[in-house]
Amino acid sequence: MGAHLSTTVAEGRAFMQLVDGKAADSLSGERIDVVCPSDGRSFASIPASGKADIDRAVAAARTAFATASWARMPALERGRRLTRLGLLVEKNASELAALESRDTGKPVRQGRADVNASLRYFEFYGGAADKIHGDTIPFLDGYTALTLREPHGVVAGIIPWNYPLQILSRVVGAGLSMGNTLVVKPAEDASLTAIRMAELALEAGFPEGVFNVVTGTGREAGAALAGHPGIDYVTFTGSPPTGTAIQQAAAVNNRGVTMELGGKSPQIVFADADIEKAVPVLVNAIIQNGGQTCSAGSRILIERPAYEEVAARLAERFEKLVAGPHDADLDLGALISARQKVRVAQMVAEAERAGTKVLARGAIHSEAPASGHYFAPVLFGEVNPESHLAQDEVFGPVLALLAFETEEQAIELANSTDYGLIAGVWTRDGARQHRVAKRVRAGQVFVNAYGAGGGVELPFGGFGKSGHGREKGFEALYDMSATKTVVFNHG
Ligand code: ADP
Repeated sequence: MGAHLSTTVAEGRAFMQLVDGKAADSLSGERIDVVCPSDGRSFASIPASGKADIDRAVAAARTAFATASWARMPALERGRRLTRLGLLVEKNASELAALESRDTGKPVRQGRADVNASLRYFEFYGGAADKIHGDTIPFLDGYTALTLREPHGVVAGIIPWNYPLQILSRVVGAGLSMGNTLVVKPAEDASLTAIRMAELALEAGFPEGVFNVVTGTGREAGAALAGHPGIDYVTFTGSPPTGTAIQQAAAVNNRGVTMELGGKSPQIVFADADIEKAVPVLVNAIIQNGGQTCSAGSRILIERPAYEEVAARLAERFEKLVAGPHDADLDLGALISARQKVRVAQMVAEAERAGTKVLARGAIHSEAPASGHYFAPVLFGEVNPESHLAQDEVFGPVLALLAFETEEQAIELANSTDYGLIAGVWTRDGARQHRVAKRVRAGQVFVNAYGAGGGVELPFGGFGKSGHGREKGFEALYDMSATKTVVFNHG
């Protein structure tokens, strides 16, 4: 591995966004540099759109919805197009994975895993399009009452930079499956696969204006989209403060929202667990994507008698972890940006200043470009449950170990943050598996497993500061539609 990266995908390209089925620059002509986190170098550019571009895209999506070629198309036909898009994802898998890795700095195998997940979303939602049924409701004599699931209309999708392709695919899959039209604003730090997906969607036979992608910053394009009166519903994945800003903007028009806002997800390890099986899963749950995962398992709560053993085994693995360029495919890549690296470094420095012990540190590959945004993984233990490190999301490869004495205390600790996204429970005791799974406040609970990111079939979303609404699985189709009740009086 040399100082220069071997990837050349998209080198020097001036990307266009996709509005109303056509490639378009921003109306102002302004552009944003696309930087590869692995070497901090700009290699391409995307349009820097603003309010006028959002107006244009929303108008296109409104027209596409109003002409009803999409919403009124038989569900079977919508499903077929989504399935076709999945096949195009498969056909273009290498290019999509290379684009995603270079744009985000993630190891290429993670880029490939993300492409597979994207394919699964289109298979799942393509198949689901004609399987969402309403109800008939027992009502008064002489009446028949039934429910229909109706699309909201134009849905805005605001996408983060950590899993751009996966998160775009779940929004596009569920949103289009129900007959909505879309305006998607990918993150300014990682927009390339969104642009490519909009091109593939045209190839798959989606009518013009059904799926629009507008690139630009959150402050300009994102804010204009969230508060646009021509938008009927907003779905967002990202940080809690941005989620609050988007909800406030959408509230001006009284629009519904789905919010997926991250977590401080616990894994609870009881002394009777299969520790050997658990350890690699515990490590992967924080290392995957450099810890830049909403559902990262960033706290491990360990029953006191097993604490030393689990801590020692985790430390042994952490010492061996290496961060490096995406195309070297090491344990982890660079963080997304210099800004994100500063955020993570500040939280780590604060924990160290507070006297929290570093049990182990990984390394940065000696030949990784110094201009890349690398951060070596850190294992902290035993962490004070009230500290920032135990309470707040780091969004980096930083793991906090805590100890507990009783099952009751484990549940209390698991539920002691403002978040509630996912959780892991490790124990061989069947009754305890059920008790703990029921009492932990989280949108997903895994027993003797941890499914960060995996499983397009599994409803996903949070409690509390982790957000509200559900993505993935059939549940996402309910969020992406509204119930209409129809009552017939036939005497
Ligand atoms: P980060 O702060 O790490 O960039 P965010 O959660 O702010 O993470 O970003 C996620 C997405 O939200 C990106 O697409 C970003 O452009 C967008 N965004 C940021 N601020 C706003 C805002 N005020 N209104 C709408 N979208 C925003």
